[in-house]
Amino acid sequence: MTSATLAVAPAHGGEVAAADDAQGRCLICAGPTDHYFSKTYAPYPGSPFPQPLTVDYARCVHCGFVVSRTHQQMSGAVWSALNSSWHHHYENHLDQKVSNAPPYAQQALAIAMLHREGLIDAGDALDYAAGYGSLAKCLARYFGLRARLFDRYVHDGGNDYLDEAELGRYALVINSAMFEHVLDRAALDEVNGLVADGGVLMMHTVVCERIPKDPDWFYLAPMVHTAFHTNRSMELLMQQWGYAASLYAPAAKSWFLFKRGHPALPRLEGAVRDINHALRAPFFHHKAGFVDYWKGF
Ligand SMILES: [Zn+2]
Repeated sequence: MTSATLAVAPAHGGEVAAADDAQGRCLICAGPTDHYFSKTYAPYPGSPFPQPLTVDYARCVHCGFVVSRTHQQMSGAVWSALNSSWHHHYENHLDQKVSNAPPYAQQALAIAMLHREGLIDAGDALDYAAGYGSLAKCLARYFGLRARLFDRYVHDGGNDYLDEAELGRYALVINSAMFEHVLDRAALDEVNGLVADGGVLMMHTVVCERIPKDPDWFYLAPMVHTAFHTNRSMELLMQQWGYAASLYAPAAKSWFLFKRGHPALPRLEGAVRDINHALRAPFFHHKAGFVDYWKGF
């Protein structure tokens, strides 16, 4: 199989990518990285790559975080073209669709439950990278909770979308399906920077103990997935960002990260035990640090 190699200037990501990644350091822990494996993606209608594209993935020796060096080296224009063409193609060919949407109903339920228990404040919530606002619509329609929305690329015309200049800091920042699309540290730090002191970051992505060394791993199927997080790399991110404890809701496939100083921290573990007891099911898992729920795929 022939494959195209990229000969484009590493423009995307700017200064931060240059600071860490140019030396091949991990963008989570700055540890050394090794080439892990490569995967060749076939062209698809509208792709900026008319030939098969071989993508190289690097893995951090220390925390196991994996990132696509090939995507990092794409220019902003090529990366943007890849994203829009990929989503356009697969939205119009649902039979071939490989990416699955977050479980919005279960996410909304988890948010509503924690809000009702007084463990999070969903009255001051921002859905960052909200896309078409599906989660916010579910929160409003079934739970009467209103979240503001921000998405740099999608604007559904609703009044709840904020412009970038309007962004502040929020008691609850919701972030679904973005952590696997980042190319640099700045994109992650931007999300964390929106969380108020003593606030909560809710995140939905795939995190596992060890990224499989397997080009056929399901999570690599979307050509726009670039970053693959491990329990260790998330634990380190939490420490760096000042989060003390987390909850994981398997039904919602979402974590809730609680900042140090969050008022509910002292009673969080007991409150989760009460919720699970009432539901007769382990709806939430609690841990000081990152809930390392997924051990393998
Ligand atoms: Zn690392």
